[in-house]
Amino acid sequence: MDFSLTKEQNDIKKAAAEFARAEFTPEVAQECELNHRFPREIYEKAANLGFIGLDYPEEIGGGAMGVQENVLVVEEFCKADSGLGMAMHLAYVPSKVVKLFGTHEQKRKFLAPLVRGEWVSAISLTEPDHGSDLTCMETTMEEKEDGFVLNGTKIFTTNAAYADFFVVLAQDDRNAPPGKGMTTILVERSPSSWLGGRLEINEIPHKMGIRATSSGEVVFDQLKVRKENVLGERGRGLLNVLDFLDESRIEIAAQALGNAEGAFLKALNHARQRNQFQKPIIDFQAIGHRLGRLWSQIQSIKWLTYYAAWLCDKKMEKTAGAIPLYTSMVKHHVPETAKAIIDETITVFGGYGYFLEQEVERRYRDNRIIEIYEGTVEVQLNNMVRILKKLNMDFIRSTLL
Ligand SMILES: Cc1cc2nc3c(=O)[nH]c(=O)nc-3n(C[C@H](O)[C@H](O)[C@H](O)COP(=O)(O)OP(=O)(O)OC[C@H]3O[C@@H](n4cnc5c(N)ncnc54)[C@H](O)[C@@H]3O)c2cc1C
Repeated sequence: MDFSLTKEQNDIKKAAAEFARAEFTPEVAQECELNHRFPREIYEKAANLGFIGLDYPEEIGGGAMGVQENVLVVEEFCKADSGLGMAMHLAYVPSKVVKLFGTHEQKRKFLAPLVRGEWVSAISLTEPDHGSDLTCMETTMEEKEDGFVLNGTKIFTTNAAYADFFVVLAQDDRNAPPGKGMTTILVERSPSSWLGGRLEINEIPHKMGIRATSSGEVVFDQLKVRKENVLGERGRGLLNVLDFLDESRIEIAAQALGNAEGAFLKALNHARQRNQFQKPIIDFQAIGHRLGRLWSQIQSIKWLTYYAAWLCDKKMEKTAGAIPLYTSMVKHHVPETAKAIIDETITVFGGYGYFLEQEVERRYRDNRIIEIYEGTVEVQLNNMVRILKKLNMDFIRSTLL
């Protein structure tokens, strides 16, 4: 057993940390938070340094690496700043569906500009009446001689206001049973790519956290797109999404890991510096023990996340069936634990922790969405129970426990 990162992984982690510490300054973070601004200039710089598309093919400028390398970058970005770190990751993670199911031409067209930092991606699954339950969509696609016509409304699409393309889950066959007959299709923002109809985007205001991102309603009104925009096999849309989530949920868990680590570092520093009753507050056992416990909790979620990423990248035949179990495990356990950790850091800061200035209250708000998007905590636990019910007991005993 070897827990060490490779030299290349260590270099990536260190470079990501240095970049984020230099670029995600408290001033920029607060300005983006207060003005609800996505810092596209930092995103472009991150891309130029190779942090975006680490797991994408080399032919289109990617790094040909895996989920583990993405996890290291996301962890460091969110450790430096939750709002900016999450905004960076959320701008490129939806394009993973193109990496997984795109044709060579689609990868060249959509991923190459994304890896250069010129394009931002979005994924539109959720609809007003279909959130956790994605077994059928009310957004439809209808085949015409020269393209597909989309009609329907998506909500809560992250990056809606500035994404250059959207991965859309649409009902292709309206008579299909639940879970079937859906297709993933690419919609470009540029009207020059449309063959007719309209795309309307309405920002949804007043959200709790991740305020450096847009969250929008996306309305397709007789929007006609080219036939070559179909992403993957027709009718396999939901399965494409589930395969995407198996990878992306691990990276999303890394957001929570970084958020918790960053809050911990701030709290540790504060506890050493802050004097009350003529001594640093870390010397009060209530505060010192608290920090000790937080350290243990962080180590547990860190190695769990790395292990899930390792398992996902290795794709070993023997453990392939367990990947969704580990994906759902980190996607519920890491953000839930991170929430508790960040909450405790607010305690360490006392009254100061309640204000934006100290950043831990923002980390708490930013982190909260990780328990909701890409499948809620409850949905992850349902997935786990479904898998555990079927997993062979010998396999569990010999390999997993
Ligand atoms: C800031 C933000 C960004 C988002 N970004 C995106 C995005 O980019 N793209 C996108 O497509 N979507 C996005 N979403 C949507 C997000 O994925 C959904 O909100 C989430 O999946 C839950 O769906 P819902 O809100 O409809 O809640 P519901 O599905 O109505 O669930 C409500 C409650 O019931 C529980 N529940 C539902 N079904 C079950 C069940 N079977 N068993 C137990 N409990 C259950 C849920 O866990 C939850 O607690 C985003 C949401 C937010 C808030």
